[in-house]
Amino acid sequence: MREEFLHYAWQHQLFNKEGLVTTQGQVVSIYSPGFHNHHSGPDFSMAKIKIGQLEWHGNVEIHYRSSDWIAHQHHTDAAYDNVILHVVWKDDAPIKNLQLGYVPTIVLNNRIDPLLIAKFDGLLKNKNKIPCENTFPEVDGLVKLAMLDRVMTERLEQKSAEVLQLLVKNNYDWEETAYQLLAKNFGFKINSQAMLTLSEKLSFKILAKQTAKVFELEALLLGHAGLLDDYFQEDYPLALKKEYQYLAKKYDLLSYKMTGNEWKFSKMRPPNFPTIRLAELASLLSQRQHLFSKILEADSYTQLAEIFKVNLSGYWDNHYVFDKPSALKPKSIGKSSIENLILNTVVPLLVCYSKEKSQQEYMDRAIQFLETIAAEQNNITAYWQSLGQPVNTAFDSQALIGLHNNYCKSKSCLQCTIGNTILSKL
Ligand code: SF4
Repeated sequence: MREEFLHYAWQHQLFNKEGLVTTQGQVVSIYSPGFHNHHSGPDFSMAKIKIGQLEWHGNVEIHYRSSDWIAHQHHTDAAYDNVILHVVWKDDAPIKNLQLGYVPTIVLNNRIDPLLIAKFDGLLKNKNKIPCENTFPEVDGLVKLAMLDRVMTERLEQKSAEVLQLLVKNNYDWEETAYQLLAKNFGFKINSQAMLTLSEKLSFKILAKQTAKVFELEALLLGHAGLLDDYFQEDYPLALKKEYQYLAKKYDLLSYKMTGNEWKFSKMRPPNFPTIRLAELASLLSQRQHLFSKILEADSYTQLAEIFKVNLSGYWDNHYVFDKPSALKPKSIGKSSIENLILNTVVPLLVCYSKEKSQQEYMDRAIQFLETIAAEQNNITAYWQSLGQPVNTAFDSQALIGLHNNYCKSKSCLQCTIGNTILSKL
């Protein structure tokens, strides 16, 4: 019996209350189980309970064994002095506190329906990717929708909190923050940390002095990344290297430059090589000054996608790395990469901006973009689809990935409304 299951049974009052008495023999009537407390202190607060002839309002603590009270050191913690009821599965020790002397205790063993316990055990022991997969298709669509909305809200809150962290570090400079987040997502997972490091070492303020000059921006980004440190044969990298040395001296950058071995090229498609991604970032920054303002202005997906449409030309037409000519292939940021940038850069920025400025329209816009972009295809979304769950837009895929990662994986079915519905159908 897991303690979290006892919390669930108490919260939803899923036990037989007939003839309910404390271990001291006093009759117990529960008027309200109180509110679940997920922070320190007793498990439930503001419960309303009649014990014997007296009506109490206060805290409830729940344990598997009553002796856990001592094991968890509650007898030395004043926060537990005003617990009005101790709810346990097994009573193996009488417990006292300062307020009440013996803490009134009720025992739930033999009071919870064995079918409910078996159902919960079934979810815990299920080794499939989605433990409830056998019953999931039978759950009402509205229940699923409500849970997916909740997961999405939690996911957006989390992403917004990450943006806020960067924003605080950047003294509430939105342009600098947007640039760092964009750079990070230009790394497309494998080089995202290196990209973020580069953007933190090479500030947007310095790049902004070179806007509209793509060659200078490439020199700064590639040079500061440590990717111009080799001895080159071709003219283009030699010219970039020379330009970086000049600009690095001008802006006093050399002492905190990165090294080339901080970047990963292996197991990667050449269009995702950091050389190409940095050249694309340089091109984007040269064409779109005040990037964050442009993002805020874009009120349709088409306008937004336009911001990220970037083509490379010249040297990059037949190169993925320096000094190694390849077949002629013009390079641009593809549709799926643009959608990825919108999903991971624009949406979190808009959500954070909406919360910081208390302007709902940016939140609505973020949701609108999520509902316009096609769903991500991966093994998690494919699994949900195999259970009959529609996965049409990025909103669906993001919510379902969040549900899997934050609930199903850790078997947090008791915190999931889908799980609650399954358990409640005995
Ligand atoms: S967390 Fe919810 S959706 Fe996931 S397995 Fe449990 S009940 Fe099912």
